[in-house]
Amino acid sequence: MSENVTLLDKTFVKYINSADIDAAVARVAAEIMLEYRYDDPILLVTLNGAIVFAVDLMKQLDFPCRISCVKISSYSGTESTGTINSLIGLNEDIRGKRILILEDIVDTGRTYVHLHQMLTEAGAKDVRIATMTMKPDAYKADLPVHYVGFNIPNKFVIGRGLDYDGYGRNLPDIYQVVTD
Ligand code: 5GP
Repeated sequence: MSENVTLLDKTFVKYINSADIDAAVARVAAEIMLEYRYDDPILLVTLNGAIVFAVDLMKQLDFPCRISCVKISSYSGTESTGTINSLIGLNEDIRGKRILILEDIVDTGRTYVHLHQMLTEAGAKDVRIATMTMKPDAYKADLPVHYVGFNIPNKFVIGRGLDYDGYGRNLPDIYQVVTD
């Protein structure tokens, strides 16, 4: 894949290559195995962005687990709107279950806080999160972020599930926006 990509009105430069992402996913999978192997957890995939991370990760989890999906949106273009929209909700009984949220990116943490509250109210035994990327400088929540592939600067990224207005999710590498 090339070093630069242009999507709509923006140019992005390659930032993390695919092989390094694979290695980070393998490391995170090993950490998750240690914590959950006897607990029959539910992996909660946040659509659409976490699809790629979830698929990569699940193939490496060698223990009984199930997946479920929710769809939540707070972004428009390259900006967080500050409002969380639940587009597809949780449709199963999670009472007494351990829940591991799978995210493509944790930015301000608003989505995570919203999900954590929803899952706790629904009776989850405990709620943790595994994210492919995290922006520590943007994070404003008090909840711990348990499993992190990469800590990245507070700049907009695409690829590996992450989109710019719907485009770029299919790129195997992660790209960072070139600011003008
Ligand atoms: P938070 O609620 O933590 O502020 O934001 C989480 C959501 O914002 C992510 O699931 C993702 O949809 C979106 N987001 C935050 N930063 C980025 C970014 O750099 N690139 C992309 N493509 N989405 C982002």
